[in-house]
This record gives sequence, structure tokens and C-alpha cells, in this order.
Amino acid sequence: MPATKIKANCSVCGMNVDSKFKADYKGQTYYFCSENDRKEFQKRPQVYAGLERVSKTGKAA
Ligand SMILES: [Zn+2]
Repeated sequence: MPATKIKANCSVCGMNVDSKFKADYKGQTYYFCSENDRKEFQKRPQVYAGLERVSKTGKAA
């Protein structure tokens, strides 16, 4: 079986990424385009994790 490729968007800047850079936050896995963006996420995970929820529901919780 070939290696699983995960299609995702960088949780910080939104560009298309594979699963090379990732981080877990509150039981969810987030993907990033670079180590730099992963560090940025880990500095303020509530900001970037929150953005994703906003885009799903259309409004802030
Ligand atoms: Zn990025």
C-alpha cells in the first residue's frame, strides 16, 4: 500500500499542504506548510484553531 497522503490546508496561512508538518491541539490534528507556521500555531493555538471553527459555522462561537 502506498504511503497515505493527507490533503489539508495549512491551519495558519491556508495554503495546500501534505502531512509533513502537523500538531495536535485539543484532540484535533492540524497541518502546516512549514515548521515556521507550526511554531506560529503553537504560540497561539486558540487563534488558529478558532479560525477554522469560524469558517465552518460562519460566525464566532
Ligand atoms: Zn502556512
